[in-house]
Amino acid sequence: MTDAAELRARAQELLKAHPPATTGRTDFLKARFDAGLAWVHYPAGLGGLDAPRSLQVVVDAELAAAGAPDNDPRRIGIGLGMAAPTILAYGTEEQKERFLRPLWVGEEVWCQLFSEPGAGSDLAALGTRAVRDGDTWVVNGQKVWTSSAHVARWAILVARTDPGLPKHRGITYFLCDMTDPGVEVRPLRQITGEAEFNEVFLTGVRIPDAHRLGEVGDGWKVAQTTLMNERVSIGGMRIPREGGMIGPVSRTWRERPSLRTHDLHQRLLDLWVDAEVARLTGERLRQQLVAGRPGPEGSGMKLAFARLNQEISGLEVELLGEDGLLYDDWTMRRPELVDFTGRDAGYRYLRSKGNSIEGGTSEVLLNIVAERVLGLPPEPRNDKDVAWKDLTR
Ligand SMILES: Cc1cc2nc3c(=O)[nH]c(=O)nc-3n(C[C@H](O)[C@H](O)[C@H](O)COP(=O)(O)OP(=O)(O)OC[C@H]3O[C@@H](n4cnc5c(N)ncnc54)[C@H](O)[C@@H]3O)c2cc1C
Repeated sequence: MTDAAELRARAQELLKAHPPATTGRTDFLKARFDAGLAWVHYPAGLGGLDAPRSLQVVVDAELAAAGAPDNDPRRIGIGLGMAAPTILAYGTEEQKERFLRPLWVGEEVWCQLFSEPGAGSDLAALGTRAVRDGDTWVVNGQKVWTSSAHVARWAILVARTDPGLPKHRGITYFLCDMTDPGVEVRPLRQITGEAEFNEVFLTGVRIPDAHRLGEVGDGWKVAQTTLMNERVSIGGMRIPREGGMIGPVSRTWRERPSLRTHDLHQRLLDLWVDAEVARLTGERLRQQLVAGRPGPEGSGMKLAFARLNQEISGLEVELLGEDGLLYDDWTMRRPELVDFTGRDAGYRYLRSKGNSIEGGTSEVLLNIVAERVLGLPPEPRNDKDVAWKDLTR
């Protein structure tokens, strides 16, 4: 069993063999992965050492203290938070060997080709077709709201492989090469003015069967692993006190006393406490994950994160009065990073609107809490046993 002392020693060995001062960033990250110090709870040979997840902080602290470069979790959020755990759970040995290292190092960015114009909350209704042709699958369809598709090298993709089965059973999960012929990415401008996400058109895209994840028809089960991890990675990000949306508004409060009113003071205090409670609940969620006991907080955290971001950014716009109505720059950008708290108050206010939609809408998360946490009666599902091709659309 690997313990903290052993991990510290391994980190020191890595630093000795690859001094951060003279080693390039990518080379250092590759060496770190190969030493099993990338995500210590992953298997040996795949960036980890089969060590307890809780010991990752030991490695991170040791390397940070030596000024070693780290990977960029924000840039590779979908890969790190969603693709990697799904590949680890369902991938073949070849797939794990091929994809996990460049993903963790950040050489390959991932995106998520799930949502479609007629299949968002009801993801199992998706219509993108994958038809088998020997050793490949030919994929045709359209995806929408695909964050980072313009910078992604790979995508996790769900497609319908058997329209004759009920909707949850005829879906298969694939790893799609975004540089393949037939993949067309078109920017989709959002309320902030940025085109952070895209439409993706798939026309005759040929995906090798070797890039299928899980069994044919098991795509819904595989996608559940991705979606559960997505909620934790959106709602459960580790942030320092005042590190999230509450940070800028608290700073404005301190720096511009002329804006203060009694009413706004009460609201700010209430939201500050809520933000702190959410932050500490997130910490507990991570500890439970580390202990192998993911609790109901996963769905609750994503809900709380979205609600708080919207309330706090609304308060900030109000606090700033006329200044809160200004918008810094309406140029269409295609950012590589999603930045919830970046830029000015107007941007934060508009961007937070997406928080209650992306990664599952608040209404649907409430349904999940109601059904799976509280055990309340489920929504009626009269399409459960009907072939997808026979559903009314
Ligand atoms: C910023 C942003 C980034 C995104 N990035 C990605 C991405 O990278 N990849 C990707 O695949 N998708 C992405 N999405 C898409 C996102 O996951 C979907 O928008 C979301 O699942 C909702 O689907 P929809 O837009 O089709 O809305 P719909 O499903 O049509 O829902 C419309 C409304 O009806 C409500 N509703 C629907 N069903 C129920 C129900 N059963 N009970 C109660 N209310 C219900 C919803 O909550 C919502 O208010 C992104 C979205 C945003 C906003």
